[in-house]
Amino acid sequence: MEITKKILICGSGIAGPTCAYWLHKYGYSTVIVERAKALRDGGQNVDIKGAGQHVIEMMALSEQIEAKNTQECGQKYLDAAGKVIAVLPKGALGTLTNEFEILRGDFAQVLFESTKDHCEYRFGRFVTALEEKEDGISVTFDNGETEDFELVICAEGMNSSTRDMVMAAHTSFRYLGAYMAFFKIPRREEDDRWAYSVNGVGGTFITLRPGNEEETTVLITFLRRDHAITGDTPTMRKALLRRALEGRGSIADRINADLDTVDDFYFGPMSQVRASAWSKGRFVLLGDAAFCPTPFTGKGTALALVAAYVLAGEISRNADHSQAFAAYERLVRPYVEAAQKQLTPRRIRMMHPKSGAGIGLTHLAQRLVASQAVQRQFRPSAEKRAREVADDFVFVDYA
Ligand SMILES: Cc1cc2nc3c(=O)[nH]c(=O)nc-3n(C[C@H](O)[C@H](O)[C@H](O)COP(=O)(O)OP(=O)(O)OC[C@H]3O[C@@H](n4cnc5c(N)ncnc54)[C@H](O)[C@@H]3O)c2cc1C
Repeated sequence: MEITKKILICGSGIAGPTCAYWLHKYGYSTVIVERAKALRDGGQNVDIKGAGQHVIEMMALSEQIEAKNTQECGQKYLDAAGKVIAVLPKGALGTLTNEFEILRGDFAQVLFESTKDHCEYRFGRFVTALEEKEDGISVTFDNGETEDFELVICAEGMNSSTRDMVMAAHTSFRYLGAYMAFFKIPRREEDDRWAYSVNGVGGTFITLRPGNEEETTVLITFLRRDHAITGDTPTMRKALLRRALEGRGSIADRINADLDTVDDFYFGPMSQVRASAWSKGRFVLLGDAAFCPTPFTGKGTALALVAAYVLAGEISRNADHSQAFAAYERLVRPYVEAAQKQLTPRRIRMMHPKSGAGIGLTHLAQRLVASQAVQRQFRPSAEKRAREVADDFVFVDYA
């Protein structure tokens, strides 16, 4: 087999191309197979925070990312009638808005542009079988072709099918007790560069955020005990979402009115991926496929960036792939688990008050956090924020 330094990466989301970028630096050739027919440019505002910022700085991508910044000014909490009850500008304690705010699709595009000249992308392709051999791994694709690689990196996101072929027994999902939907609606004149969040009765939480010139992004989460829907179809999902929006105030009414025109519609249970092991033989998991923390942590993208950097670095400095994978997991797992632990079903319930009284208390807490007294006392200084970024993860220099 002539496969030394030839690596297959499954999934051209965030983690896959980042890993390809670093592997190329260390002299590897990479092939990325992506199930979708073209680069998936969907998705909403993602934060690149903490150590993730350091990875994009090392990749010299800060400028390209800054050029696509959604320019979100901060977050405002509203009541059901649309009245502002709390204002948390960018940089404030408790705000949603971070330094690097970018639409996920724009970020995926930046990563694609920075890797496409030295990584072979194959769109509309996926793995149907894998066979591990003594010196490599033989992979069969959906077109029937078979090819040999030294290693396979699976970065297919939360619902990875290749992971399930190889490591189903090692993977479980932790349902957090809520469903989430994200999609885009047409931008209106009144939409400015602020994020707007509103709690609705019954445990519905809605956030609108600035997208591009034509669109506003929507994230809706709502409590639901069951994590499966009987007869799950796109029509049923929208019907379920409509029910969660009914009588939840003016923003919910606006979304409901636009819902029929939405095609790129994500809807599913808010679940974390927990894998008891991240590799088996020459096969290794990366990004959401290994450790999806859910969008509510705001850390999925940062974790994917850090993990991709470490995995590529450990592959490059260990002649034995099992040692490389063990070092990768040892370095990244504690970082990932700390992010996952931030969210528990209890915390999710607290963020989604159901009764009018519960919402009243939540409004009080939102006002308190936004108050000058609290902000003056606890708002992190620019130096403290920089220190937090530096302390978030201790990087090994693989160069
Ligand atoms: C379309 C889309 C929209 C998203 N929107 C948001 C958002 O709004 N907010 C948020 O916080 N997070 C969002 N995410 C998740 C976010 O991108 C991840 O949490 C994080 O960035 C980690 O990235 P990842 O590369 O591990 O996974 P992902 O970004 O999910 O990328 C996985 C890639 O693998 C591909 N893939 C799946 N199965 C196969 C297969 N069998 N073979 C080959 N390729 C396969 C997928 O099409 C996708 O391109 C979105 C993901 C996608 C795919």
